[in-house]
Amino acid sequence: MIDRATIDKIMDATNIVDVVGEFVTLRKAGVNYKGLCPFHDDKTPSFMVSPSKQICKCFACGEGGTAINFLMKHEQITYPEALRWLAKKYNIEIQEKELTDEEKQQQSDRESMFIVNEWARTYFQNILKNDPDGIAIGKQYFRSRGIRDDIVEKFCLGFALPQRDALAKAALKAGYQEDFLVKTGLCIRNEKGLYDRYAGRVIFPWLNVSGKVVAFGGRLLDARTKGVQQKYVNSPDSEIYHKDHELYGLFQAKKAIAKEDRVYMVEGYTDVIAMHQSGLENVVANSGTALSVYQIKLLRRFTQNITLLYDGDEAGIHAAMRGTDMLLAEGMNIKVLLLPDGDDPDSFAKKHSTQELKDYIEQNQTDFITFKTRLTVENVTDPVKRSEAIGGIVKSISVIPDQILRSTYLSELSQRLDIKEQTLLNSMNGMIRKELEEKERETEREAARQGETHLADTNVLQSLTPDSEVEEMILKSIIRDGEKVIFENVEMDDGLLTDLTVAQYVDYDLGMDHLQFHDDLYNQILAEAVAHSGEADFKAEPYFLHHPDVRISSLAARLAIDPHQLGKGFQLKEREGSLRQHVLHLVLDLRMDIVEKRLKELKAEMQQVGSDMERIKALMAEFKETQEYRNLLAQKLGNDIVG
Ligand SMILES: [Zn+2]
Repeated sequence: MIDRATIDKIMDATNIVDVVGEFVTLRKAGVNYKGLCPFHDDKTPSFMVSPSKQICKCFACGEGGTAINFLMKHEQITYPEALRWLAKKYNIEIQEKELTDEEKQQQSDRESMFIVNEWARTYFQNILKNDPDGIAIGKQYFRSRGIRDDIVEKFCLGFALPQRDALAKAALKAGYQEDFLVKTGLCIRNEKGLYDRYAGRVIFPWLNVSGKVVAFGGRLLDARTKGVQQKYVNSPDSEIYHKDHELYGLFQAKKAIAKEDRVYMVEGYTDVIAMHQSGLENVVANSGTALSVYQIKLLRRFTQNITLLYDGDEAGIHAAMRGTDMLLAEGMNIKVLLLPDGDDPDSFAKKHSTQELKDYIEQNQTDFITFKTRLTVENVTDPVKRSEAIGGIVKSISVIPDQILRSTYLSELSQRLDIKEQTLLNSMNGMIRKELEEKERETEREAARQGETHLADTNVLQSLTPDSEVEEMILKSIIRDGEKVIFENVEMDDGLLTDLTVAQYVDYDLGMDHLQFHDDLYNQILAEAVAHSGEADFKAEPYFLHHPDVRISSLAARLAIDPHQLGKGFQLKEREGSLRQHVLHLVLDLRMDIVEKRLKELKAEMQQVGSDMERIKALMAEFKETQEYRNLLAQKLGNDIVG
């Protein structure tokens, strides 16, 4: 852990022009600098760096942020790694947080395991390159599979000698402790002694996202033992390796994934390797199970677009359908491509040129929802089975977080299957409601467990999701002007007079109606801006731009950058009207959005309610109340602000 004081020191020393300048040739342009964008194929210099704001932005592809964001994206490293990179550049000594004895022990265990694995990787590689058996068996195997030497090197492929304890002996001789050989899974200990796990196999090391060896996969190549031993053996889970946290090939693929803004998911090591050799480098594999939420979150650091690339047989179809709802729920856009005629990505890549491969994928990948519809519904005539299958697709659509995307899919599905959109929508809303209720019950159970209960107030505005665009504009005001006073000498409930900053006013105003942003990160930003509002030297923009939580600093960077300010001629655009009017207008807009959405919902419900008179009365009463509130808002918006 790097302590806060050191982070501040690093931030103070950092100059974004130097940092970006290490990777991009920058030229002075007015008060700013510009160069060719490293994140897309840039022909004209679109990448701007602002020394005064310490941020950068590409006006073509939108990438940018603080020096930290830039490094994380460009070098594909984590937040602490970016901090260390900067500390090294500016010669700042890193003060690590004091660790407890237990933490020290854990850390040194992990370190020792990484060191042993690193040694083993080199050991296996050396055998493949220099040992007569390694060359005759291992190297021969890779050559027979058509894998080039540079690719063998790139993926650190190796070979384990057939003797049952060759590695164990070599490791002990080199001074490594038996304990760590067992903990990493390189060796197995039994009553007779220490044995190698991978003896006689070709070796595929697993590198984690920052390039450290966390595990090994060993493939058997001797046909005689067929059926007796497993074809593949992998490291067991350990302190440094969790099967469902890692993706094979991610380290080698991450730059290409970010650049292409897409990842190809395949099934095996050799698929990944063959595709790299064909020039398609944005490829990863996981070991034959459904993707876990950890793996999805790991991928999302690099892209939101995933193509599942599998064999066209039963198993491939099964693999393509597995775990996809979780991908959708995490906001990933999924495409599917099943390869023709018994090909897997390995064999297919070998038969075709890079261009053919790319073209084939481009022309044949299908959007997942369409894929699932074709596969499970079309050609099914039995009404019960058909309806079940449609339910499955609606379920998949219902987990997608983006509302617009959901309705797009729904209306496509309605056309494709010739079913009324409203019917599908009702079914989907039912599923979403059920899911929410389940979550609520879970929260209640959780609250009950902790001995607290929440009583929800009833209110026109209660528990409705505001429009995210207005929310974002409010947040933008908080980040850019949060500390500025917009009301002086306001009388509070306790009779005291006080000044209100932008952040305090927004907090006060939303608080009156128990409104919250629907994104927790937004709520956190508002709370922090309010908490610091009393401090004399608090400036919201630099505070959030250099926030230790990287989600906040990158959001701040995105919202703080005004295209008018960094764009053409770098002119500062006058904000229309005063800041106070701007903020007042925004919070009224937010209410207006919520109210109009509710009115629409009520209207729809009234059309469908049937003959339940009690319900009709209740709906009409709420409609009337909401409408009156809307008129009040409209009046306020018209008179106080615009007029
Ligand atoms: Zn760009």
